[in-house]
Amino acid sequence: MDQSAIDALRNQPIAPQDMWIAGKPVQARDGATFDAISPIDGRPITRVPSGSAADMQAAVASARTAFEGGAWSNMAPAARKRILHRIADLIEQHALELAVLGVRDNGTEIGMAIKAEPGSAAATFRFYAECVDKIMGDVAPTDASVLALIHREAVGVVGAIVPWNFPLMIAAWKIAPALAVGNSVVLKPAEVASLSLLRLVALCHEAGLPDGVLNVVTGPGSVVGAALAESMEVDVLTFTGSGATGRRLLQASAASNLKPCYLELGGKSPNILFDDAPNLDQAIAVSAAAIFRNSGQVCVAGSRVLVQASIYDEVVEKLCQQAAAMRVGDPLDLATQAGAVSSEVQLSQNLAHVEAALAGGARLASGGARILEETGGYYMQPTVFADVTGDMKLAQEEVFGPVLGVMRFEDEAEAVALANQSIYGLAAGVWTGNLGRAHRMVKAIKAGVVHVNTYGGPDITVPLSGHKQSGNGSDKSIYALDKFSKLKTAWIQL
Ligand code: NAD
Repeated sequence: MDQSAIDALRNQPIAPQDMWIAGKPVQARDGATFDAISPIDGRPITRVPSGSAADMQAAVASARTAFEGGAWSNMAPAARKRILHRIADLIEQHALELAVLGVRDNGTEIGMAIKAEPGSAAATFRFYAECVDKIMGDVAPTDASVLALIHREAVGVVGAIVPWNFPLMIAAWKIAPALAVGNSVVLKPAEVASLSLLRLVALCHEAGLPDGVLNVVTGPGSVVGAALAESMEVDVLTFTGSGATGRRLLQASAASNLKPCYLELGGKSPNILFDDAPNLDQAIAVSAAAIFRNSGQVCVAGSRVLVQASIYDEVVEKLCQQAAAMRVGDPLDLATQAGAVSSEVQLSQNLAHVEAALAGGARLASGGARILEETGGYYMQPTVFADVTGDMKLAQEEVFGPVLGVMRFEDEAEAVALANQSIYGLAAGVWTGNLGRAHRMVKAIKAGVVHVNTYGGPDITVPLSGHKQSGNGSDKSIYALDKFSKLKTAWIQL
């Protein structure tokens, strides 16, 4: 990837957008639109349809018609597999275009976006393409007078609601396994990051996905997201976002057709540095990246660093050096290490968390302020708070910004207690040279993924599962197929 190719795309005009319903690009029925604002400079870059409940109902109806029609759900698995591979090919061919479009919309630094967005989405479509013709049923070990077959079937219509931080990656985690099993999908992007997903859906149609199998409706979560969740015609809902919205979706399910709701929610992930870490400087550098990349807008961000008392002062000092040296700025510059905060709303929430941490008694050791305001964009210094204790708001609430809380512990037992003192259980990190301790920590920490002597990087082969209030079900891996399929028994008297 070279800078000139990025620069050639950075100011390209973006045409007013269409949603996709029944295989056609359409506007909202009432013609309503909203501005997509770039966090790079706070300016509008295009207009996006602002769908209504009626638009969402039309999308769900189209998904249902496509599913019952069988063009996709009954297509030979080998043919479905070819189309999913073609989608991956097109994502790869358009990788830079997709990445730059997404960065202009949500501000992620391009170096990370190119890998985490088109790179990861293409890998996800390929992974599930390869699953299509390997999903099999079973024969149960019954009495000889009976033949019992266990079929695995598509659920029907899948509703997918995604957030703005990694729109392509997270949407692919939901769309690709749902399509692999033969379902139809209605996708609802976040208002702050619709553009790359609208392009993805266009590419899916170019790849030969039949009409109505993948629909996308843009607009406010409280309108189109709510209509999707309340629909009697949606069979399964899969969601990534905040706990507050997750609760609403469960209520909507209870008030409608009891559809299963799979939730990937937030985290307050502990990243634990023991004094026997094999390479402390490397541990500190990776720990800084684990909270500051994408301006902290990473669900698994290591937002609490727990440090053993004997190395505490050294680690705080070096974390502050890392934070201060981080290149924050234009996300379309390849040298940038942390781009823009995705929206003005998110930036003010981050700054409110800084105020609350100060009021709560945490020590501001580095950063804490908005920067580059003259650009019109939304940028924030990587921020380190030291002397954070378990009861503070900063230790308990997710910021979803570049704000790190550093906490001190004496021994393994205290580290475990502090790590688990959270309503969340998404991710964790442990840095130690002691193999026994590493395994004990993996077992003791309540989280869906525990990294050892690294942080971040698990690929599509492994599940991302929220424990506690970080969610239920799993995105990624072959286990994700369970969400989008149901079992049926044929009990045959011979
Ligand atoms: P959010 O819950 O506000 O929005 C997520 C999506 O839900 C958006 O598409 C939004 O339009 C939609 N939505 C909002 N209100 C709705 C409603 N009433 N009914 C239906 N849909 C509605 O969350 P966000 O601010 O976009 O995302 C940030 C949150 O997502 C953070 O808490 C973060 O931790 C979490 N997250 C989790 C993961 C994970 O894998 N666990 C990954 C990324 C982000």
